Amino acid sequence: MPVCRESFSPALFPSEGEEGYIPYSEEKGKSISELLHLLSEKHQLSLSAYEKILQERTEEDEELARSLAKECTEKHYGNGVYTRGLIELTNYCKNNCYYCGIQRENAEVERYRLFKEEILSCCEEGYRLGFRTFVMQGGEDPYFTDERIVDIVTAIREAYPDCAITLSIGEKSRESYEKYYKAGVNRYLLRHETADEEHYQYLHPKELSWKRRMRCLQDLKEIGFQVGCGFMVGSPHQTVKTLAKDLYFIQEFQPDMCGIGPFIPQHATRFAKEKAGSLRETLFLLALLRLIKPNLLLPATTALGTIDEHGRELGILSGANVLMPNLSPTEVRKKYLLYDNKICTGDESAQCRADLEKKMKAIGAELLVDRGDAKKEKESEIE
Ligand code: SF4
Repeated sequence: MPVCRESFSPALFPSEGEEGYIPYSEEKGKSISELLHLLSEKHQLSLSAYEKILQERTEEDEELARSLAKECTEKHYGNGVYTRGLIELTNYCKNNCYYCGIQRENAEVERYRLFKEEILSCCEEGYRLGFRTFVMQGGEDPYFTDERIVDIVTAIREAYPDCAITLSIGEKSRESYEKYYKAGVNRYLLRHETADEEHYQYLHPKELSWKRRMRCLQDLKEIGFQVGCGFMVGSPHQTVKTLAKDLYFIQEFQPDMCGIGPFIPQHATRFAKEKAGSLRETLFLLALLRLIKPNLLLPATTALGTIDEHGRELGILSGANVLMPNLSPTEVRKKYLLYDNKICTGDESAQCRADLEKKMKAIGAELLVDRGDAKKEKESEIE
């Protein structure tokens, strides 16, 4: 199978004096709250301004970011929250990402794959419950050849022409991505994990390459997918500098979606004893991401709901506008554990949706029955 090209290296993070460096003179001498207002107005800052914000912000600055982000979300998306039905199609994976509970070397995992018929019945139930996007997510499982993926996608596309189809099955060749797109896949999620190459290598074995990950993201964008990237908050060896690079990367790459959630250690991995990422940091970053890209599709993730009972509601109140409840058959949910203590693994899909509906209502938000595509900048402002 051809692999992604390794030659792509984005000209990210130019420093003063280097080609591509943008001297944001407006930033000079500004306080953190002034920088937040500037970001809210211009949607871009320099890398060093992001570092300064992450390093020096106070609780009041966090509150300011949250309220600017909430205002921005309401302006572009009203109080509506998009939902996506998540179908975890396989927990087999050929990779060994050091933080991941379903990595190849974890012998504790009881492996499973869903058959096409099972996937279609998840979609059937999801459609009945009001989902208009199906997200098929899984490990990099060689069983799911391009032919099998295209076959499944074609069947969903025929049965649900009004729904969006999202894939999240890892790094593939450009040719494979093109086949998926042609078969009717609209969106592709591939977390970049970290915009710092050295940090990436700390989180992954050496056969996985940051440049290849970046190349895949670029390929997906060029092909025409709505592209989602993302990263964990508080992952081992993450620093203010690497996080600032993540924010700057989002600003430059301009993805349609960005999934962030706190790092949560999984007991069978080498990071079992590491500290989890914090709710507070994740909420602050959600707010910054909303200000960087006002029409960004920004999920309040299950990991956020796992570290705090009200994590997802707080995420929505900090600028997120997407929820991705599980549509996988209940009997396989406990086998797809990327991290420990994951919530909603025992619930029925209908129960998950009903619970979320109630939670959203309590904070004045509304779950929508809508494909929930990324809005174009011009059409996204609600009068
Ligand atoms: S993070 Fe994804 S690619 Fe890495 S081991 Fe887990 S499922 Fe596989």
